[in-house]
Amino acid sequence: MSFTLPSSHQDRPVAVIGAGTLGRRIALMFATRGGLVRVHDPSAETGEAACAYVARELPAVVRATDGGRPGTVEAVTDLAAGLADAWLVIEAVPERLDLKKRIFADLDRLAEPDAILASNSSSYATSNLVDSVRSPERLLNLHFYMPPRQNAADVMSCGHTDPAVIELLLKVLPDYGIHPFEAHRESTGFIFNRVWAAIKRESLAVVAEGVSTPADIDRMWQVNTGAPAGPFRLMDAVGLDVVLDIEDHYAAERPALPEGPRELLREYVTAGRLGVKTGSGFYDDYQRQD
Ligand code: NAD
Repeated sequence: MSFTLPSSHQDRPVAVIGAGTLGRRIALMFATRGGLVRVHDPSAETGEAACAYVARELPAVVRATDGGRPGTVEAVTDLAAGLADAWLVIEAVPERLDLKKRIFADLDRLAEPDAILASNSSSYATSNLVDSVRSPERLLNLHFYMPPRQNAADVMSCGHTDPAVIELLLKVLPDYGIHPFEAHRESTGFIFNRVWAAIKRESLAVVAEGVSTPADIDRMWQVNTGAPAGPFRLMDAVGLDVVLDIEDHYAAERPALPEGPRELLREYVTAGRLGVKTGSGFYDDYQRQD
């Protein structure tokens, strides 16, 4: 099938599939230019929570966006209704490849023929989804970090993406306060996550080798970069089991990566010290979250 770029995208809705942590934040960013954003989630309750989140956050984000105007975010439980007339569809459902394959087959069937189909997946390149769609020219990764605080986004071809699709997104996304950066070839972890992985890995190695402590490294990081928190605080916030999963994923692709950082993480995970969510990790000063 051939693919033609979406026409008059300024006047058409954006559809976000999945209204969880990232879906609602992505919806928030696309609601900053006065247009309509539909979030589709099978859970009506989650959809409503996403709309409430956007209503709360939108005024401040619009104020911070050049030429911003508050738009409308609607939650829909019916997928076809969510996709009607949308020029851009962004998938943000749980990180399971089988689920993503099913969703992209549905999106390919139900979305407008000129809609761009993007995945926010953190670890699956859309080359894994090519067989689920008839027009891979419109398929790509569009990976967000944590909007509205961290507004960089990776843009990465599925291997068949029409270069005009990438060009259009690089041009249009800044209007919504999003800073897109293109990964010029397929890369697990895209751009920034790989750089961040190296910082985490080396910080862990410095502790594993007995050179320094988490508290001193964090403090030194803050003194030298002016950042509000260091790598160990941030790893505790993400969850040390998740940090270990991510590092295992990189190591499966690059077997030469050092073992020390993963061994240190495994010690904490085995001891049940997963970070903020269990009340302790590299630090002990958290309220337990059940
Ligand atoms: P989440 O669990 O918070 O949200 C996922 C949402 O998808 C849930 O609300 C769930 O009800 C919904 N869902 C489940 N099945 C669905 C279906 N068939 N159709 C539509 N919605 C469905 O997950 P999340 O943290 O928002 O992650 C979503 C995606 O974003 C993942 O691919 C993840 O890798 C990626 N991502 C996450 C982060 C992060 O920090 N959490 C950052 C960048 C990218």
